[in-house]
Amino acid sequence: MKIASFDSNKIGLIVGDEIVEIVPAGSRSAAWPPTEMLRFISEFEERKGEIERLVASGPRMPLASVRLETPVPWPNKVIAFPANYHAHIAEMKDGLISTFKNGGQGFFLKANSSLSGPADPIELPSVAGREIHHECEMAIIIGKGGRDISVERALDHIFGYACLVDVVIRGKEERVMRKSFDSFCPVGPWITTADEIADPANLALELRINGEVRQSANTANLIVDIPNMIAMASSVMTLYPGDIIATGTPAGVGPIEDGDVLDIQIEKVGAMRLPVVRGANGYNPVWDKPAA
Ligand code: MN
Repeated sequence: MKIASFDSNKIGLIVGDEIVEIVPAGSRSAAWPPTEMLRFISEFEERKGEIERLVASGPRMPLASVRLETPVPWPNKVIAFPANYHAHIAEMKDGLISTFKNGGQGFFLKANSSLSGPADPIELPSVAGREIHHECEMAIIIGKGGRDISVERALDHIFGYACLVDVVIRGKEERVMRKSFDSFCPVGPWITTADEIADPANLALELRINGEVRQSANTANLIVDIPNMIAMASSVMTLYPGDIIATGTPAGVGPIEDGDVLDIQIEKVGAMRLPVVRGANGYNPVWDKPAA
């Protein structure tokens, strides 16, 4: 199934070029905080029958007539793995190769408020003299939560997958600050449920800027693989339904500029086209010093 958030936190199922509303308005909790998708994910297994009935009877509309939103707007957390493909490590140099040979350098968090959706532009903050880079990543959406999840059981905890762009200001400031501006974490265009992905360790992903391919890779080349990411994250923190894991970027990261058009596409998962705009917000003197 392809499950989307749309038109102010409605939940829908994509069927061809239509969307079926599967969480009727009356059953939704208050509009804020927008946590209905968390409840939906946590109850998905027991509600499958009801969902299938609603696909037949629920209100249908053309997909093009609705506004898709980031599928999980209010997760408990957004976990992110750094540079996680063999070729990108070589590109970044600075000692990362030896670090990864010892099993990785762990993970970090992006602010949940940096999430944006497939209809939202990436808004560059008003900081001059700094490169702002795209990172093409696959997102894991957690289904069943837990702590100390084993590598062997990790895939059972995945609800689905989505496209994710990890946007970052290059520099030496704390990573969470450089990666957490509003709109620096586009996720979407929907969640493709795990049962549709026979092998998440063999998916082509690609990112283009103005039509030119900048990043092209396959999840087969992940260094820390998907089960080990879930095991590592859950060794530290309890995972909850709807938690998002950004699985790290392959080679080819580079700057985005005002007016660019970014396309991200993951085989069997989906695709998003996002305009890049320069906003008026975000200036702080911390960004005045040189990046290096
Ligand atoms: Mn990243």
